[in-house]
Amino acid sequence: MKIYNTLTRRKEDLVPLQDNTVRIYTCGPTVYDYAHIGNLRTYVFEDALVRVLEWLGFTTLRVMNITDVGHLTSDADTGEDKIEVGARREGRSAWEIAAFYTEAFLSDMKKLRIKEADVLCKATDHVSEMIQIIQELERRGFTYKISDGIYFDTSRLKDYGNMALVDLEQLKAGARVEMVPGKKNATDFALWKLTPKQTDAEGVMRPVKRQMEWDSPWGRGFPGWHIECSAMSMKYITDAFLSGVFKPEKFQTIDVHGGGVDHINVHHTNEIAQSEGATGKKFVNYWVHGEFLLVEGQKMAKSLGNLYTVADLEKKGYSPLAFRLLCLMSHYRNQMNFTFNALDDAEKNLETVNDFFCRVEDYLKWSAVPELKEAPLLVEEFREKIRLKLADDLNTPEALAVFFDFMSEINKLLDRNVLGRESLGLVRDFVLELDDVFCFLQPKGELTDVEQDLLEKREAARAAKDYEKSDHYRARLRSMGVVLEDTPYGTRWRRTKFKEE
Ligand code: AMP
Ligand code: ZN
Repeated sequence: MKIYNTLTRRKEDLVPLQDNTVRIYTCGPTVYDYAHIGNLRTYVFEDALVRVLEWLGFTTLRVMNITDVGHLTSDADTGEDKIEVGARREGRSAWEIAAFYTEAFLSDMKKLRIKEADVLCKATDHVSEMIQIIQELERRGFTYKISDGIYFDTSRLKDYGNMALVDLEQLKAGARVEMVPGKKNATDFALWKLTPKQTDAEGVMRPVKRQMEWDSPWGRGFPGWHIECSAMSMKYITDAFLSGVFKPEKFQTIDVHGGGVDHINVHHTNEIAQSEGATGKKFVNYWVHGEFLLVEGQKMAKSLGNLYTVADLEKKGYSPLAFRLLCLMSHYRNQMNFTFNALDDAEKNLETVNDFFCRVEDYLKWSAVPELKEAPLLVEEFREKIRLKLADDLNTPEALAVFFDFMSEINKLLDRNVLGRESLGLVRDFVLELDDVFCFLQPKGELTDVEQDLLEKREAARAAKDYEKSDHYRARLRSMGVVLEDTPYGTRWRRTKFKEE
C-alpha cells in the first residue's frame, strides 16, 4: 500500500513497525455541536483507509479521541473552551453537552457505516496522563510558566514545524495580533491553562470558576488542546503508559496519524513537538491528511446557512450512504465540492449498485443456464484492477469507476442470460467483499400491500396479453417509485427516489 505522507510530501510504501498491524490514531470530534458534513468527510476517508488496509490483508489498531475539554475557540490559545460555550448556548452543563454530542456523533458514524475505533477515549478521562507528559517536558527543559499557564518553548526544538512547511517568520508576524502576553515565541503553545482570574465587583482578583477543571502541580486549570492527542495515542498504541506511569523510553513510533488538513500547521505540528520533546523519539511515521469539503465552492459556515449535518440530509430525503459514496467519489487529497446535484448523482449510483446486487441475487436463485467458464477470470481481473487503485494512495474514485465497469460487464451478461449459478455466486461474493470496503449495500425492503396488488394485477394482464392494461399498472407503480424489469424467469422490481430516469 502506498500512501501520501505529509511529513515527506511523497507517496511512500506503508510499512508497519510491528509485523502486519498498522497502528493508527485519528483526531476525533470536539463534542460541542453536531458534526457537519465537512467533519464527516474526514471520518469517511479515515474509515476507508482502515477498511482498505484490512481488505489488503493488514490488521489495524485504531484509536480515536473525543475532545471534551480544552479546545478553545481560537487556535492561538486564546478564546473560550468550545464545550463551555456550547453549555452556555444550551443552558446545560459542560458534561451534559459533551455526553449528548458524543452520542450524536456515534449515531452519525453508524449511519455512515464508519467502524467504531478499537479504542474511543475521552480527553477528560486522561488528565493524569497529560500532566505526566507535561512534567516530563518540564524536566527536559521544554516548558515555562506565565500568568495564564504552562507553555511549550518551541525554540528549544531544533526542527519545530518541519511538517507544516509554513514560513515560521510569517507565522510569527501574523500571530502577534493574538499573542498571549508573556509568550516567548509566537509558535509556543499552552500545555496547561490555569483557571483564569477576573476582577470582581469589589476589585479583588478571583478565579473564574470553570465547569471542567483539575488540580495540577502548577495550579488548578485544564489541559491545552494538543496534549490530549499525545497522551491518548501513546497510552493506547504504545507501551509508554503500561502501568499508568509515563515511561518515555517505552514509547514506540506510531504508524499512522490522520486528520483534516486544517490540523497540519498548529495541532499536529504541536503534537509532534511535545511528543518528540518528551520521548526523544520520532512520534509518527506516516501523517495522512484529508482535504476540505466545500459547499457550492464556499467554506461552510452557520452564518452562510450552508452548514449541513447528517440529519439535514436525511430530512431532505437522502440516504447517509449516498453521502458516503459521494465522499469516496472524490480523492481524499482533493477538495470536495459538495452540491445537492452531486448528491443526487451519488444517490442514483447507490440505487444502481443496490439494484445490481439484487439482480445478481435474483438470477442466482433462478438461473437455469450452464456456467460461463470465463466468469472466475473476469472477477479476478476486476478484483486486481480495484486492488491496484486502492493500494495507490487510496484512489477510491478510480476504484469505484472500475467497479462501475464491472457492473456493466456483468449486466450485459445477465441481459444475455449466460451466467450459471456458480458464476453468479462468485459475482455476488465479490460485491459483498467490496461492500466491506465501500459500504454501499442497503436492505431492499418490501413492497406495500397496494404495490404488491398492482404488481399482481400487472402480471395477470400480461399473462392475458392485455398489454394496454399491463402498461397502465406498470406506469402506476412507476409513479409510486417502483420500477419493473421483465426477465426470462419473471418480473423483478426495485425502488427509486427519482421521478425520472
Ligand atoms: P473538530 O471537531 O473541529 O476537531 O474537527 C473534526 C475533524 O473534522 C478534524 O479532523 C478536522 O480536520 C475536520 N474538518 C473540519 N472541517 C472540515 C471540512 N470543511 N472538511 C473536511 N474536514 C473538516
Ligand atoms: Zn489531535
